[in-house]
Amino acid sequence: MRQREKPMTPPDASGALSFPHATPPAPGAVTSVAPGVKWLRMPLPFALDHINLWLLDEGDGWTIVDSGLNTETTKQLWGEIFLNALEGKPVKRLLVTHFHPDHMGLAGWLTETLGIPLWCTETEWLFARLLSLDESAAFMENAQEFYRRTGMDEAMRAAFAGRGTTYSKRVTQIPHRYTRIGDGAVVQVGRQEWRVVVARGHAPEHACLYSPGLDLFIAGDQVLPKISPNVSLWPQEPEGDPLALYLASLARLKREIPETAFVLPSHGLPFHGLHRRIDRLAAHHEERLKEVEAACETPRTTAEIVPVLFRRELDAHQLGFAVGETLAHIQYLLNLGRLSRETRPDGVYTYRRV
Ligand SMILES: [Zn+2]
Repeated sequence: MRQREKPMTPPDASGALSFPHATPPAPGAVTSVAPGVKWLRMPLPFALDHINLWLLDEGDGWTIVDSGLNTETTKQLWGEIFLNALEGKPVKRLLVTHFHPDHMGLAGWLTETLGIPLWCTETEWLFARLLSLDESAAFMENAQEFYRRTGMDEAMRAAFAGRGTTYSKRVTQIPHRYTRIGDGAVVQVGRQEWRVVVARGHAPEHACLYSPGLDLFIAGDQVLPKISPNVSLWPQEPEGDPLALYLASLARLKREIPETAFVLPSHGLPFHGLHRRIDRLAAHHEERLKEVEAACETPRTTAEIVPVLFRRELDAHQLGFAVGETLAHIQYLLNLGRLSRETRPDGVYTYRRV
């Protein structure tokens, strides 16, 4: 019998997006994406191999948006940027969208070496400080307990339960002080105003920035053109509902940021088509919720549901995100009463469709 042909990939809604820049800037170089706004890239040693950072012209200096991961390569590339891309003007401020190490990693190093302040939201600063400081046995035990309940075997758990300790290795000293930006705040950058729009679910108080004058939207990790941003349940808040927060934030962004905005995401290429992308991301999560429900016709553990959502092979770094993401979908369904949870005698949770 002839093997069935693989069905063609359905035309994804991302096909409806447009990407004016076909290629990213080379390492150490910048690309102008709007008047006074430059784009640069830093490498990441993960499957997701890069992060986009932005330089905003203040007239007499620059605001840097996000810092890159704490690696020697990133520091070296920053040196090249300082030499080649700043037109002889100083850096005046670092603004960080959220605490994740690819964004916050060099915040300490940049603020220290350049003598500039860090601007970020309160929760992101606190979370960065907390994760970089608490490497106690109790912190790790809480994470172990959280992952034991998923039903994963010990080897799998050991592969990524050290999240707290890996954080401190991927960041330089988180600055001891910061300037707070909150939802609705307006950051003046040269002649342009940038409005802070806080989005939740990917990170606790993630700052997105919208400039009405430039119709430009710095999306951070909240809206990405090709991949679905990670939305995970973490051991620090085991009964949280990050997916509900994420979907509510997406809906709000659609209401408040125009479809015409040119979107500057932290990963992938800048694009037009914000509302179409938001719709696609929301639909993607609804599909995944249905897959989880269908899998739970008979009681399942989290470990059994992970391969339903993630069919490809995962390395340890990806597995941590996959487990968290699976739990975020489970928790959302639990709160809606679409799943119920039971605790087995060994402490592992099982879930069943209601
Ligand atoms: Zn992130």
